[in-house]
Amino acid sequence: MAGPRTPCRIGDALCDIDTPALLVDLDKLEENLKTMPITLKEYSNLKLRPHAKSHKCPTLARLQVTHGAVGVCVQKLTEAQAMVHGGVEDVLVTNEIVSRSKLCRLMSLAQHATISIVVDSQQNIRDLSDAAQQMGVDIGVLVDVNVGMPRCGVLPGPEVVQLASLINSLPNVTLKGLHCYQGANQHIRKAEERAEATAAAVEKAATALKALEDAEISCDYVTGGGTGTYMYEAKSGVFTEVQPGSYVFMDADYGRNFGEDGQPVHQFHQSLFVLATVQSVPEGNRAVVDAGLKAISMDSGVPLVYPNSDIVYHCGGDEHGVLVPPGKYKIGDQVWLIPGHCDPTVNLYDWLVGVRGGRVEAMWPITGRGPGV
Ligand code: PLP
Ligand code: MN
Repeated sequence: MAGPRTPCRIGDALCDIDTPALLVDLDKLEENLKTMPITLKEYSNLKLRPHAKSHKCPTLARLQVTHGAVGVCVQKLTEAQAMVHGGVEDVLVTNEIVSRSKLCRLMSLAQHATISIVVDSQQNIRDLSDAAQQMGVDIGVLVDVNVGMPRCGVLPGPEVVQLASLINSLPNVTLKGLHCYQGANQHIRKAEERAEATAAAVEKAATALKALEDAEISCDYVTGGGTGTYMYEAKSGVFTEVQPGSYVFMDADYGRNFGEDGQPVHQFHQSLFVLATVQSVPEGNRAVVDAGLKAISMDSGVPLVYPNSDIVYHCGGDEHGVLVPPGKYKIGDQVWLIPGHCDPTVNLYDWLVGVRGGRVEAMWPITGRGPGV
């Protein structure tokens, strides 16, 4: 069977790219990759472990490692496989993985790379230990703590101690630390409100650490934080690692966050775009492009038209987008769209097309894409 079709070839001009296509502006991407470690340079003991859920692309993960990352986080087993098979040597799974078959697949990755994973139940810890023993590997385990996001994770307190003690008592699993991520805080618009909400999450992480300390269980690793809040986790003195993901690409939703200077966040640049083509300009009052729900995730709002911010994209269904007013667009013109939400948009594509100076310079396969089986 043929592999996924490529939308273009390296060296092509932009006008030769078949659309819809997922583009990354390589100049902007490189600036984002360089900026992240600079923002953290005064926290000399703090580690950077970007979240690869945003790109699902091992080529980009390896670039993050060359820009100071200790490894990456992933959310799904197929992302972990893509990273390890793509040459990433240290992967933290920030999600609970269950079922015998998946645990065996996870342990087989630990034969090639340093793997750690979060847990929030005794059953899962026992299953991880059994699978690790069977495959003859050791993996690191972090207790997943609910620091304000009611998803997975145990509350800071006695349950953290129970799980940590169980990890310490079983073979082939090593207690590494605490996972304390709060997702909703990332998108609080005002910087001072984001800081306040993060302070509450940091306090919960500190409570979990204190519970371990009181039980004489040593723990020197606390990880969490995303693009919206990582500086607050970094400054807290409680976190030893941050896991921002979206900063490499940014999106329209993050573009609505404000920084401490009261301006829209400008530290990181929009590097990700969906390239679409105008296929119709009916009645002269709208331009219809070939990118709808199957080309752009709209869970965080519709895409923005770049650089024509006066033109509004309306979802035209599965395969269409309707631009109003049509501006100067004619049939066949290409349109650059800024996705509302980068991660699920990337998940729709097989290839990330790297562009610079009006040409295709790189084609990176998004090998971790898909539902994450
Ligand atoms: N860490 C975890 C556990 C996440 O689930 C996410 C994103 O959802 C991130 C880090 C990265 O967040 P962002 O892409 O907003 O930087
Ligand atoms: Mn996201």
